[in-house]
Amino acid sequence: MDADVVVVGAGPTGLMLAIELRLAGVRPLVLERHPHRRDTPKAGGLGGQILELLRYRGLLERFQVACPGPVPAPRFPFGGVHLDFTHLADPPMHALPLPQQLLERLLDERAAELGVEIRRGNEVTGVSQDDAAVTVDVRGPDGPYRVSARHLVGCDGARSRVRDRAGIPFPGVTYPEVNRLAQVTLPDTVTVLDNGDLDVPGFGTVHAGFTRTDRGLFGLGSSPGARSVSLYTIEDESVEYDDDVPMTLNELQDSVHRVLGAHLPLAGSTRLSRFTFKARQAERYRAGRIMVAGDAAHLFPATGVALNAGLLDAVNLAWKLAADVHGWAPPGLLDTYHAERHLAGARTMLHTRAQVALRRGHDAAAEALREVFSELLLDEQPLRRMGALVAGTDIRYPMPGSGLHPLAGTFAPDLTLHTDRGVTGVAELLHPARPVLLDLAGRPDLRETAREWERRVDVHTAKTDDRPADVLLIRPDAHIAWAAAVDEPAETAAPALREALSGWFGTP
Ligand SMILES: Cc1cc2nc3c(=O)[nH]c(=O)nc-3n(C[C@H](O)[C@H](O)[C@H](O)COP(=O)(O)OP(=O)(O)OC[C@H]3O[C@@H](n4cnc5c(N)ncnc54)[C@H](O)[C@@H]3O)c2cc1C
Repeated sequence: MDADVVVVGAGPTGLMLAIELRLAGVRPLVLERHPHRRDTPKAGGLGGQILELLRYRGLLERFQVACPGPVPAPRFPFGGVHLDFTHLADPPMHALPLPQQLLERLLDERAAELGVEIRRGNEVTGVSQDDAAVTVDVRGPDGPYRVSARHLVGCDGARSRVRDRAGIPFPGVTYPEVNRLAQVTLPDTVTVLDNGDLDVPGFGTVHAGFTRTDRGLFGLGSSPGARSVSLYTIEDESVEYDDDVPMTLNELQDSVHRVLGAHLPLAGSTRLSRFTFKARQAERYRAGRIMVAGDAAHLFPATGVALNAGLLDAVNLAWKLAADVHGWAPPGLLDTYHAERHLAGARTMLHTRAQVALRRGHDAAAEALREVFSELLLDEQPLRRMGALVAGTDIRYPMPGSGLHPLAGTFAPDLTLHTDRGVTGVAELLHPARPVLLDLAGRPDLRETAREWERRVDVHTAKTDDRPADVLLIRPDAHIAWAAAVDEPAETAAPALREALSGWFGTP
């Protein structure tokens, strides 16, 4: 085999997956068709649960050096209205204003530190599999060649060839709405009024803010007298755009012309981006030895959530693939990737589809819907609930077994831990991305049960205020696999722990 796992695509999902695979001790090979890191502007930042996860890996601190944050997100757009968290002391949603190009550079650097092999300028042209391996056809700078691996993951974006070759259907809809966003310089021939409004011959005065015409929406962000302004257009079009094909100044100028029905000359730009909305989700995230993750697995019809979902896919999948490569994966472990992440994707799809309904209508009924929705969001409980939904923190993965502790399946809280060696937190215990058994109540009986798994599961003893459980069994992706209730007797806890350890981490 040329690699344990071939990762197709060095976008954020592929890079994150490769990092996590290396941490789990396997050899990924990343194949990326572009010869260089891309410079098309895409996401302006990261938000939601992934920020916690990055902190649990010690990566968030590094990202914060590159850009300040994370910040409790004060407001988050939600389908034409806003989730306004400004009056909450502990908002349910955090965001880091890290542009995607910078995110990719930082992930790339981390992958290089860990010794990940990334072959840029190498396009995957074909994929096949049998019971033992995956065979990959690649077009490289020196011609075509083949590689084989135990598994392959398509992190190859919206138009995933891997998904197609694996025969995974990608049902859903493409919305006609095309959004174009730019920071542009206006030439001297355009009259900028003292208050920042524009005088556009053939249209008249365009005010700062949004102007709706019968052909679409035009947005202007300006400050008095400044010739550098931000422009935004939204139109319905029948053309399907590829997000990787950059927008040009001419394309924006034509769009402005169609929306305003008048020509607005533009001299230059510092940022140009276009995005469209699709609601599609792969029917299966796994087909034998081939898996899909990130945009290859899901496309959501609203902004601000795709990276969160894609990077969390990668973290969920990596340790399971590693378990298979190392030969200790219990039966069905790889299938839990689909079960858990498809569920999380469906939840994101639910609220982003709701955002389409909220945002698209412009008649009195649609305005009334937005008003009622905004009114509900003035109350703390629904606001928190929506925040958790958007952040993806309300996910509880389905766990096998009955009579489970309420924490089973949830993201492990970052408890403050008092140990013999000082104060630490759950986040630090998860830096190595290994399973953790955390004894919070001095339970030698349960630590003894876990001893047989000591090469796979790190055991820690600590004290915490108001312990939520006696023992937590935490997976590398920070989700709680099992928990012993406070003062749970050994007769029930020990066999249940043994079952959970074998169910997640194989026969000892
Ligand atoms: C303008 C814009 C704004 C956005 N804003 C946000 C935002 O604010 N928040 C947010 O969360 N998301 C945002 N997104 C979405 C976000 O950019 C994507 O979700 C993200 O890029 C998906 O990452 P990925 O790694 O799954 O796929 P991609 O980033 O698409 O990466 C796929 C990689 O695979 C490579 N590849 C494809 N086919 C092959 C092949 N056959 N062989 C080898 N390599 C291949 C591609 O070259 C590419 O590098 C935005 C997108 C756009 C376009």
